[in-house]
Amino acid sequence: MPHILVTNDDGVESPGLLALAQALRTIGDVTVFAPNRNWSAAGHNKTMHKPLRVWSVSLEDGSQAMTTDGAPSDCVALARLGLVKKPVDIVVSGINNGPNLGYDVTYSGTVAAAMEAAINGWPGIAVSSDDYEGPRHWDTAATAAVEITRQALKFGVPENSLLNLNAPNIPLAELRGIRVTRLGNRVYRDVLVERSDPRGVPYYWIGGDPPGGQLDEGTDLEAVSQGYVSVTPLHMDMTFRPLLETVRGWLSQAEPRAG
Ligand code: MN
Repeated sequence: MPHILVTNDDGVESPGLLALAQALRTIGDVTVFAPNRNWSAAGHNKTMHKPLRVWSVSLEDGSQAMTTDGAPSDCVALARLGLVKKPVDIVVSGINNGPNLGYDVTYSGTVAAAMEAAINGWPGIAVSSDDYEGPRHWDTAATAAVEITRQALKFGVPENSLLNLNAPNIPLAELRGIRVTRLGNRVYRDVLVERSDPRGVPYYWIGGDPPGGQLDEGTDLEAVSQGYVSVTPLHMDMTFRPLLETVRGWLSQAEPRAG
């Protein structure tokens, strides 16, 4: 049986985490190690300036889990550094309550945990379910996650890469299939909300409606909007190669000369 490390960014009490752990137990031994609070949109963290506590908790189904006051990426790092003794075959993060599409991957703690796995030489999969409110169809994302995890264990995931899975929040029977996609263009609708505290000093919220996006063909945004699970392969090398020569060109005219 493969050993699967399950984490998330919504916190150890999240129903999405439990649904994922239960589904993955059908194909492997599962260790759950997740943050004790919600870290959504906290990105990729390495806690360096405070101690990290780790303790054991029971999930709703009575199974044991490890939890910490650190970030999702800290959970993976702590596991890698020895807190999880049994060798890990794959890290699966989620199921996030809400999508991680397009630029969301740069904010997401769910995806950050899978990135931390990639950095540490472990295959990583991030799993998210669309919609921010209303009834949840965790089983749709969980079923897709089991299938993709099974394939990733069978064929391997190349070094420095990870998979980002998003499921539409629809009943499993209505799912149209799985599409392999590229990241789309998210459109954020953030607005600045300014209020005053009781002392009359202004404070700010980044508010506004949930993000939308361009439904370009072949993208994660389009696939999920059409009732498909989206799987996007991601790579940790963010170098934009077409700009290498351009920037070298700028610097060839500058002092000091680029080498
Ligand atoms: Mn989240």
